[in-house]
Amino acid sequence: MGFNLATIASESARSHPGKVAVISGDHRITYAELDQLSDRFASNLRARGIRPGDAVGLQLPNLPHFVIAYFGLLKAGAVVVPMNVLYKADEVGYILRDSETRLLITWAGVAEEAAKGAAQAGLSDLVMVTTPGTTAPRDSVAFESLLAEQPGPPPFHQSDPGDTAVIVYTSGTTGRPKGAELTHFQLFMNADTPGRLFGVRDDDVILVVLPLFHIFALSSILNVCARFAATMTLVPRFDVATVLATIERDRVTVFEGVPTMYIALLNHPDLDRYDVSSLRVGISGGAPIPAEVIDAFERRFGIVILEGYGLSETASTTTFNVSAEDRRVYSVGRPIWGVQVEVWNEHGAALPPGREHIGELVVRGVNVMRGYRGNPQASKDAFTGGWFHTGDLGYVDEDGYFFVVDRKKELIIRGGYNVYPREVEDALYTHPAVAQAAVVGVPDALLGQEVKAFVALHPGQDLRPEELIEHVKARIAPYKYPRSVEFRAQLPMTAAGKILKREL
Ligand code: AMP
Repeated sequence: MGFNLATIASESARSHPGKVAVISGDHRITYAELDQLSDRFASNLRARGIRPGDAVGLQLPNLPHFVIAYFGLLKAGAVVVPMNVLYKADEVGYILRDSETRLLITWAGVAEEAAKGAAQAGLSDLVMVTTPGTTAPRDSVAFESLLAEQPGPPPFHQSDPGDTAVIVYTSGTTGRPKGAELTHFQLFMNADTPGRLFGVRDDDVILVVLPLFHIFALSSILNVCARFAATMTLVPRFDVATVLATIERDRVTVFEGVPTMYIALLNHPDLDRYDVSSLRVGISGGAPIPAEVIDAFERRFGIVILEGYGLSETASTTTFNVSAEDRRVYSVGRPIWGVQVEVWNEHGAALPPGREHIGELVVRGVNVMRGYRGNPQASKDAFTGGWFHTGDLGYVDEDGYFFVVDRKKELIIRGGYNVYPREVEDALYTHPAVAQAAVVGVPDALLGQEVKAFVALHPGQDLRPEELIEHVKARIAPYKYPRSVEFRAQLPMTAAGKILKREL
């Protein structure tokens, strides 16, 4: 039986040929054009010897080329390995080797590290996208040459639903990144169900500033848009003014982002200069969003923000707050169709509802990865009886709404008491001068761990650490408040915009 994820795009080409699929600056591509370009890309991949099941690295910023290559690769039956453009040579080399990638499609802007990494993996075949101001190495293949017309019908591989479509590398909790294998069916379901839940329509314009190589944007924006013939407008790098200008220019209706993006947008000094009235909904995920931010954003932008929760290993969405009427602030919502979530104690027993019953969230269902590529031990360790261990701590309320309190590995144990950094961060965010906050445990001879906060203040704000500590102390239990606060101009972030606690 044929079941290729690329069908979502070709069906939209049939039903909405003239509809704009991708906007990138002044450039627009319709669904019919996307279908044709990705067909040609697939034909040229075949001509270069790429066979069904071959892994191909896709290391591009948010450019139309990403979208064309993605569907072209799927049509050819190749397995897409999205890769972060910020990777250094060793990381590129590691992932290419681990995934046994046959070809790397990359960007001239990162050519040096990409080429070194490819050489480590014994790969000489590099396809390069050039953008203004970048130059491709002389021995690389130009992306455009893979868009040349080829004789004969383009390939459309008849995949099985359970075939791997995408391998997403995720750092997980320990050691080297691991490649989560996601199937055509899982990715289809994770576009179809969430898209229906928040009512994506063919007249929606969704802004894509989250990197397409991360599961959030890949699954919850790119696949969702293709499934429902919506338009995606690509922004290559997060910059508040560009995002606001793009919302105005393209009449963006849906914004999807991580909490740090909502905070940055909200605090932009020239917010009033932009017309953002086209927005109808915001989707937040990837990290906890403080209730104050939801509140302030909803009031200022006049839209609802819906929070969801998921991981690379769950093809993105696991739980979701589906509408303004059906949501709980602080909650990540309820499991989506075909997905079960439970809270387990350390012995693997399911805990009853209630905020006093915090345990690990485990997931089972249509969205959960097959396993980690070429890593049977890690795959085995990730599951117990078919349930996937998320590594996140949380609880569920009587009505089935889930709450993520923190990551298991970020839990601070101070003198025997559990301190969830998120709760302390939420208290920090209630101070109006705080722009970004991250709470970590630092070694302490007496208590084992002590609570420390790293904070970036809004521009022009001045605050003494003691004042902020007093503010937090009044809001949470005495064993939880930070004993020290360090101010930074900015906190380190991942490409997806999450605060990188490891680096603190
Ligand atoms: P990634 O695999 O990079 O998508 O990261 C997944 C992790 O992000 C999860 O294990 C959670 O720790 C975190 N995460 C995602 N969504 C949320 C959310 N809404 N609230 C809290 N943490 C989240």
